[in-house]
Amino acid sequence: MTAPLRAGEPIIVNVALGARSYDIVIGRGVLGSLGERIKALRPGARVAIVSDETVAHHCLAAAQQALSGIAAATPVVVPPGEGSKSFPVFENVCEALIEARIERGDLVLALGGGVVGDLAGFAAAVLLRGLDFIQVPTTLLAQVDSSVGGKTGINTRHGKNLVGAFYQPRLVLADTDVLDTLPKRELLAGYAEVAKYGLIDAPEFFAWCENNGAAVLSGDAAKRTYAIEQSCLAKARIVAADERETTDLRALLNLGHTFGHALEAETGFGPDLLHGEAVGAGMAMAFDLSARLGLCPAADAGRVRRHLGAVGLPVRLRSIGGDNRRNWDAARLIDHMRGDKKAEGGRLAFILARGIGKAFVSREVDEKGLRGLIDDAIAA
Ligand code: NAD
Repeated sequence: MTAPLRAGEPIIVNVALGARSYDIVIGRGVLGSLGERIKALRPGARVAIVSDETVAHHCLAAAQQALSGIAAATPVVVPPGEGSKSFPVFENVCEALIEARIERGDLVLALGGGVVGDLAGFAAAVLLRGLDFIQVPTTLLAQVDSSVGGKTGINTRHGKNLVGAFYQPRLVLADTDVLDTLPKRELLAGYAEVAKYGLIDAPEFFAWCENNGAAVLSGDAAKRTYAIEQSCLAKARIVAADERETTDLRALLNLGHTFGHALEAETGFGPDLLHGEAVGAGMAMAFDLSARLGLCPAADAGRVRRHLGAVGLPVRLRSIGGDNRRNWDAARLIDHMRGDKKAEGGRLAFILARGIGKAFVSREVDEKGLRGLIDDAIAA
């Protein structure tokens, strides 16, 4: 990491992957430097922006202005939402980029949240057998997680992210100012992923989150930048050591995801429960399970639940979807966990913890204990 030379200068976190290394540039107003950075990275390249309608409304003009003097194709704008990570929208994006006569040596620029990043990144991975791409993440979740690490892809009717590629961007530009238009609920969903890095292996960062999470969420620019920087440093370190999730290291990033996936599947991957919200509730359940198994102090599980609840994340099952009448069922939730791509040979994989900042992968969770935990979570 390069420390900023003076206040206001962007923070740069490097993802060290040899020839595929790249920088994550974080700070207020860094979108304005997009053109210069592209000229330095790929002189003479044309740029094709892929975005969604909502992000285009808020950010496209600023991105285009920052690209003045660089040849640009007509932007490809998709509908907002998870539905755009689909074969039909993917086909439209590819055809539009081909129609725009994108060539090898040109750049695809993903301007948006995780949906646009995953979709445009996958299109870049396969178009003309691979075009370079740049991530300009516009949600907190995308700035701290999905834009970094090279997982790209779309959903199929059988599940999420089942078609995709590991394909690293050439640059990530995280402008903290663009988060000002993000709805509060989306900001909170991204914050769950910030707290996740503390819970995995950085207890001092989780303690920082406990003291500063509310300020990050209410718009304190310096604290927001610090939270994004720490998150990107953590993700960059893990990705550099285990790019393709071949050891258990990158799998730790799935803390909260086995429970979270089941909750998302049960709520139809729809607006009742955002991905980050599911991860938040899932992390609280993973720590509860760890405490119940005698692996983790109950006080640590209590801290996790308290902090996530205090910032406003829905950590109790009855608060999910805003209606108390959802008919949760432990057996159905466990079935969803089996359908998760992290399950191997039907065996469930969980990220458990020996305490805050001490996460590990377990494939040994006894189903009776799991069921008891879920029954209690439903009743709570
Ligand atoms: P998203 O991309 O759907 O964005 C959320 C909503 O916010 C959308 O409606 C979008 O239009 C709107 N929005 C985005 N930026 C905005 C802004 N600056 N101002 C106002 N509105 C804005 O959702 P997300 O939470 O960013 O990403 C979720 C997706 O990311 C999921 O598909 C998930 O599978 C994926 N994901 C991928 C990875 C990875 O490593 N590739 C990691 C985590 C999540």
